[in-house]
Amino acid sequence: MTGFSVRPGYETISAYRADRPAVTIDLSDNTNQWGVAPSALAALGAWTSRNVSEYPSLYSDRLAAAAGAYVGVPSDAVVCGCGSDDLLDAAMRALAQPGDVIAHPAPSFAMIPIFARTNGLVPVGVPLLPSGDLDAEAMLATGARILYLCTPNNPTGTAHSREAVARVLREAPGVVILDEAYGEFADEVFTADAVRYPHVFATRTLSKSFGLAGLRIGFGVGAPALITEVTKARGPYKVNSFAEMAATAALTHDLAWMAGIAAEVQGLRTRFSEALRTLGLDPLPSQANFVCVPVADARRVVDALYARGIAVRGLVGLPVIGDALRIGLAPWAVLEEVLAVLEEVL
Ligand code: PMP
Repeated sequence: MTGFSVRPGYETISAYRADRPAVTIDLSDNTNQWGVAPSALAALGAWTSRNVSEYPSLYSDRLAAAAGAYVGVPSDAVVCGCGSDDLLDAAMRALAQPGDVIAHPAPSFAMIPIFARTNGLVPVGVPLLPSGDLDAEAMLATGARILYLCTPNNPTGTAHSREAVARVLREAPGVVILDEAYGEFADEVFTADAVRYPHVFATRTLSKSFGLAGLRIGFGVGAPALITEVTKARGPYKVNSFAEMAATAALTHDLAWMAGIAAEVQGLRTRFSEALRTLGLDPLPSQANFVCVPVADARRVVDALYARGIAVRGLVGLPVIGDALRIGLAPWAVLEEVLAVLEEVL
């Protein structure tokens, strides 16, 4: 036998790629520019060869308990994964069938249409309102099996209003996935609310606020019956031993470290946005650890920043917004370098 075949249409899905040339400062993927949760590093230093030779725990129960305590839900309302990507993917597989529609805000997290299509689902983008808020009415009108919300939203940084989120949770015809990857930087989070509904799955990550992107740790929260179904689709051994040790330590001991950085990010967000406005730009109001700022020609600005050793995400032709830059927040000295290049290029 020669060759292979894939599902019709599958070959048209592209693997996710982010152009990431060698740079000294990478503000392109919203990671923590202040470093790593210190207890996580200390825990990694205490590894033994059994952490390598033996399988990790099946479903990361210690981490689930720590994550549950962190967001205020019992551990049977938590599923851990290899990044929150893993859980978004598993939730689509578990909670919908091939051919079902998943509606998502447009623009929103770039992986959602990819995970949707690899799982046989049909992604439908629903433009954000001109205010940047979620269009709850239009989302509900899709009648989709899964409604994906992302607050604060990537790549806009804007938060969905409490009213819009509450309405979608209340009136959704099917499942709601509530992605709160940037929740630590926002004025409010809805994660713990997920357990009050049978059909809501909230996701969080340790890649951003806790500085653990390289270890790939995320968790999802929902009613225990829903968590059981996502866990099956996720499968065993998804969080490796090192990741579980480090993340459990971070969630147990490093909340003050993380909160200090989140507070600094909030201050920098305001200061950076004001500086962008003095350059004649009009950044979107951010609740995340990055700022999205529309520009006339994103590619040109991104290249000018690359030439200075700085990577930001260039976004070309976003729905509602057009070209924009998504710039991760970092200590002020770094942001000043970005501002200097912008001033030159614009
Ligand atoms: N959701 C959103 C909105 C994101 O921006 C990201 C990371 N880019 C993720 C989920 C996935 O994060 P991770 O897999 O690192 O937990």
